Amino acid sequence: MYKMMTPGPTMVAENVRLARSVETGNPDIDTEFFDFYKGTCELYSELLHTKNESLILSGEGILGLEAAVASLTEAGDRVLVLDNGVFGKGFADFVSLYGGEPVLYTTDYRYEIAIDPLREYIEKDHDFKYATVVHCDTPSGMLNDISKICPLLKEYGILTVVDSVSGMMGNPVDVDKDEIDILCGGSQKAISCPIGLTLVTISDAAKKVMEDRRTRIPSFYANLTVFKNYYENKWFPYSMPISDIYGLKIALDNIKADKDILKRHAEVAAKTRKALTASGLHLYGENGYSNTVTVFKVPDGVKSEDIITHMRDDHNILIAGSFDVMEGEVIRLGHMGYNCTADNMRETLSALNDVLIKLGVKLIKALSYD
Ligand SMILES: *Cc1c(COP(=O)(O)O)cnc(C)c1O
Repeated sequence: MYKMMTPGPTMVAENVRLARSVETGNPDIDTEFFDFYKGTCELYSELLHTKNESLILSGEGILGLEAAVASLTEAGDRVLVLDNGVFGKGFADFVSLYGGEPVLYTTDYRYEIAIDPLREYIEKDHDFKYATVVHCDTPSGMLNDISKICPLLKEYGILTVVDSVSGMMGNPVDVDKDEIDILCGGSQKAISCPIGLTLVTISDAAKKVMEDRRTRIPSFYANLTVFKNYYENKWFPYSMPISDIYGLKIALDNIKADKDILKRHAEVAAKTRKALTASGLHLYGENGYSNTVTVFKVPDGVKSEDIITHMRDDHNILIAGSFDVMEGEVIRLGHMGYNCTADNMRETLSALNDVLIKLGVKLIKALSYD
C-alpha cells in the first residue's frame, strides 16, 4: 500500500475499515437501521453546527452537488455561480443541464473571493434564485470565506449551495451561523472514509423552494425530496449502502472525539506552506489557503509527472498533480483528515526534497517540516 497524501481519497483509519466489514442486515426492512441512519445524519449535522436535516446519499461527492442543483433549479431560473476555481466554474454545467441560467461571477483563481467587490456586484444585481459557492476548490487549494459570502448573499435573499466536499472537517464550518442552505460533503476527503457517499445538509428555506416548484424535479436519484418522511414511513427511496454507512458512523465518531482536529489542520497546513516557500518554491495561491491541501507551482525545468512518479516509485508516497487549467502546472499535497499529521508531512516533505534534488531543482534550503 502507498502512503496516500493526495487531496482525497485519504487513508482510512483501522476502526473505520473494520466497521465496514461487519455482518449486514437488510436496510429496507430492519427498522433498527433507520435509527442508525438517522443517528448518523444527526451526528453529521452536529459536527457542522446545524439544526438542519442531513441526508446521506448513495453516490460519490458529485451526486450531492448535482442533487442540490437538480432539486432547486427550474427552467429559466437565474443562478449566481461564483467562479474562482475549477469546481466553482463546474457548477454552471449542472445549472444549465437542469434548465437554469448560470450567471458566472469570475475572479482570478489565485485569490479567494473578495467580499467588497462581491457586495458591489450583488447590490446592482441580486435577482438570483440561489448561488453556488465552493468552500475549498481542491484543484488550486483555494479556500473561500463562506462565513462572509453566505450571509452576504442571504442579505439579498439569495439561497446558497456550498460545495465543502474537501473543505469541511479540516476548515471551520458553521452552517447555521453562516446561513448555508445546502452544504455538500463527500466521504473520501477529510471525513476519511473510502469513496462512495455524499452528504447534504438542507435548510427549511431550501426545502420550501423544492416544495413550491411549479415543475417536477427531472431526476429520481438526484431528487432530494424523495427522502421526505423516510424515517416516519420506514421507507428509503432506494436500498442504502449499509457497509459504507457503518464506516461513516465510526469516521464521524473519530472526528467528534478528536478535539484538536481543526487546530492540527491549521498547524500542519501553515508549516507545510512555510517549508515550501522557505526552500524557494512558490505557492499557487496568493491568499485563501485551505488547511486541507497545499498547492505549489512545478519548478521550472521539471515535469509534474516526474515528481509524482518518483514520489510513488522511490518513496511509496502518492501526491497529486492537478487538472483543467492547472494541468501540469502545480503539485498538490493533501493533508486532510486521517492524513493530517506532523509525521506524515515530515515524511512527505523529506521525500519531496530528495525527488526535487534528484530532478535537478536548486532549492535555496532543504525542504523540512519543522
Ligand atoms: C473531491 C471533490 C468533489 C467530489 O468529486 P470527485 O469526483 O471526487 O472529484 C466535489 N467537489 C470538490 C471541491 C472536491 O474536492
